Amino acid sequence: MHHYTHRIGQQNYYLWRRWELAKVLEVNHLTKIYGDGDNKVKALDDVSFSIERGQVVLIVGGSGSGKSTLLNMIGLLDSPTNGEIFIDEINTTTLNDNQISSFRNKKLGFIFQFSNLLADLSVLENILLPIQIAGTQSTEKEARDLLKAVGLEDQIQKRANKISGGQAQRVAIARGLINKPSIVLADEPTGNLDSVTSQLIVDLMKSMAKKLNQTFVIVTHDRQHFGDVDKVITIKDGKAFQDEEHSTMEITV
Ligand code: ADP
Ligand code: MG
Repeated sequence: MHHYTHRIGQQNYYLWRRWELAKVLEVNHLTKIYGDGDNKVKALDDVSFSIERGQVVLIVGGSGSGKSTLLNMIGLLDSPTNGEIFIDEINTTTLNDNQISSFRNKKLGFIFQFSNLLADLSVLENILLPIQIAGTQSTEKEARDLLKAVGLEDQIQKRANKISGGQAQRVAIARGLINKPSIVLADEPTGNLDSVTSQLIVDLMKSMAKKLNQTFVIVTHDRQHFGDVDKVITIKDGKAFQDEEHSTMEITV
């Protein structure tokens, strides 16, 4: 702190600090190489970007470009070959395996293409599961409120295998949000839905982002359904290109 107050003054230091804290994700020179020798695949090649709290960020690009690899790195599901990932100013690349699991359970929410609900549990029980796993302070009341917010208040006691695909994705969104994570990561969340349902799910994620100041990082082929977003990161051959000004023009197939 001395450094900065000396150079920029107390008032500016606090402004700087607030800006700093708003940065929820920072990816620095991230590289991922799978395999070795002739089988070597450079899935990510020196990727750097940062994301601020509350932003909705899309990751787009062709099949095999490295989108899921990037999302898996940010989700701490796999470790990079080189580079660093800071989440809430914590350098996650310095954490050990136990710390990573606990950090992941508390700080990250996940939404997948297939909602991955436990079929034999009720909708409510599916939402309560991440609370039990992470040991967070979230309550059943908050789970019920979230289910209401995603429009499922009348389905709370239904078994997860008795609801539609769109409803299951709503449950998955509520489940991803229950621990109040720093970032919700979604990999093709509308990849298994028809166009009308996709639009509803996209609108729901965007409205939850706004309502809760919740950061979302979303891999998608559904660029057109998202309309305005804060940032679009296009991955091509493992390299990342940022497009903020023309984000609504770009359409990926
Ligand atoms: P996308 O999600 O954009 O379709 P991926 O991130 O899944 O792309 O894959 C990027 C590249 O890395 C591809 O060439 C893919 O074959 C390769 N790849 C992904 N996962 C693995 C793995 N576990 N082992 C080896 N190669 C992989
Ligand atoms: Mg993928």
